Amino acid sequence: MKDSDFLIPWSKDSLVVNYTEVLVLGSGIAGLFAAIKLSRKFDVTVLTKKNIMEGNTEHAQGGIAVALNQDDSPEFHYGDTILAGAGLCNLEAVKILAEKGPECVRRLIELGTKFDRHDNELDFTKEGAHSKRRVLHARGDATGEEIERALVEVVRSRLITVKENHYVIDFIKNHHGEIAGVLVLNQISGKVEAWLAKAVVLATGGLGQLYKHTTNPELATGDGIAAAYRAGAELMDMEFIQFHPTALLLPGAPSFLISEAARGEGAKLLNVRGERFMEGIPGQELAPRDVVARAIWEQMKDSPVYLDFSCLEQPQDRFPTIYSTCLDYGIDISTTPVPIGPAAHYMMGGVKVNNMGETNLANLYACGECACNGVHGANRLASNSLLDGLVFASMITDSLSSKTFVLAKWENVRPFKGVWDINQKGSADVQFLRKQIKDIMWEKAGIIRTQQGLLEAYSQLIKFWEEFTPSLEVPHLELGNMISLGLIIAKTAMEREESRGGHYRSDFPFANKHWQKHSVLKRGDQHVGYVSI
Ligand SMILES: Cc1cc2nc3c(=O)[nH]c(=O)nc-3n(C[C@H](O)[C@H](O)[C@H](O)COP(=O)(O)OP(=O)(O)OC[C@H]3O[C@@H](n4cnc5c(N)ncnc54)[C@H](O)[C@@H]3O)c2cc1C
Repeated sequence: MKDSDFLIPWSKDSLVVNYTEVLVLGSGIAGLFAAIKLSRKFDVTVLTKKNIMEGNTEHAQGGIAVALNQDDSPEFHYGDTILAGAGLCNLEAVKILAEKGPECVRRLIELGTKFDRHDNELDFTKEGAHSKRRVLHARGDATGEEIERALVEVVRSRLITVKENHYVIDFIKNHHGEIAGVLVLNQISGKVEAWLAKAVVLATGGLGQLYKHTTNPELATGDGIAAAYRAGAELMDMEFIQFHPTALLLPGAPSFLISEAARGEGAKLLNVRGERFMEGIPGQELAPRDVVARAIWEQMKDSPVYLDFSCLEQPQDRFPTIYSTCLDYGIDISTTPVPIGPAAHYMMGGVKVNNMGETNLANLYACGECACNGVHGANRLASNSLLDGLVFASMITDSLSSKTFVLAKWENVRPFKGVWDINQKGSADVQFLRKQIKDIMWEKAGIIRTQQGLLEAYSQLIKFWEEFTPSLEVPHLELGNMISLGLIIAKTAMEREESRGGHYRSDFPFANKHWQKHSVLKRGDQHVGYVSI
């Protein structure tokens, strides 16, 4: 496939053209919170790949971290976030997160989110690497679903246009090279449409599907990050992937997340001999996620690993979703340890933004998991990502509301060479290639990396890239994005010769001060650049 602004070639002729003032791409916590706030001033349209509920947000279990408890403060939250970030956090962004968090969560409650309460007071739980009980949850372990439900209800009650089953393929620009809108596959009509706007907010979530084992739903293929990269956006910290230590590991079952809150409430990790192998490690079961994930990976070389809920009273009440899902696979967590393993969970990197959500491309903003301002550093603190989505979506709305934008005109959109042949058949066996990419990324660019493994991953992915011709179908388009992001992860991971947070190199097993900087890459760069923030 050619290195180009576009995954598929297209022509300006024969496209349906739609206009809106602000386009929000994605309907997770970041996209919907941004849309709701922006709708006070702008005509807003949300484009989303499947139905409005689907995305990582809906699956979030443990909760949302926020310094609202009496014995807590934004300073403590700030300190814990920085400690988890392994020397790479953008301190100003962390300050904003911790300080604006309470106000944003209160707003979420006003918008109808019902967090669990005890004696009518908000009920806070504790998770790994948090010094305080500061994690709000809803319906036990259905926090994301409850937040999404509340936000969807508000969006539906306002004059916000939502287009479901609209797959964003690429960005389009005006004659000045500024973002003018997006190219979209309307999966209902099967037609490609152009959507033009004054400004575009990218909130398309993460890319866990690049890995064989992942807690992320099928749609998390990093489309928005890949499209932004093609358009010339800078990507930052793409080598930092968080692997969650505890996902259900059973043949034929999805890598269903067993929330960190389970260990927070006392569940223990055991090897096949029933030994607590985390006992001698600082933080034990609640050590940082990368430490726990690697300890489990090491154990799994010899034996399966289990999470034992037996010391919790009534785990079915506190973790109803985990309880019922495990029961579906024949495991009663109140009596039987659950077989678990690590799985790709969260992308610390993404489209590089400043603290106001601005990218290097005019009119393009990004927030949520697809964006990176360095707030999580090299390793995200548990339950900080829902808060990140809220707080930085809110920063974007502040920034956008103070600006004057001009609505893009179709005649000012840059023309393109090449005509899309609607009948073009893709070159790839999509299912086969998708599996190959996931295997390669898991084995060679996953929890434990080496120069040799990353080189092998890179050369295999380059071959796929060269041979790949997409067709106008979502699985093909996703595959193109997955290959291109796999290459970027392998490249940035290869160049970072140290271990830090979510990036572990067994050939460079320690953090090195020289590498205390963020990787930045944009299309056309021969080498990865580095910046300090
Ligand atoms: C199983 C699980 C448990 C988690 N638990 C927690 C937790 O307890 N606490 C916490 O803080 N975080 C948790 N996380 C992480 C957190 O849920 C996510 O980081 C966060 O929800 C991301 O929100 P978002 O709005 O950025 O993206 P998402 O919620 O993933 O939304 C992305 C949106 O973009 C759309 N989209 C994607 N591609 C396209 C395209 N090409 N065209 C159009 N639309 C597109 C999707 O359809 C979706 O609507 C968890 C994640 C998972 C997977």
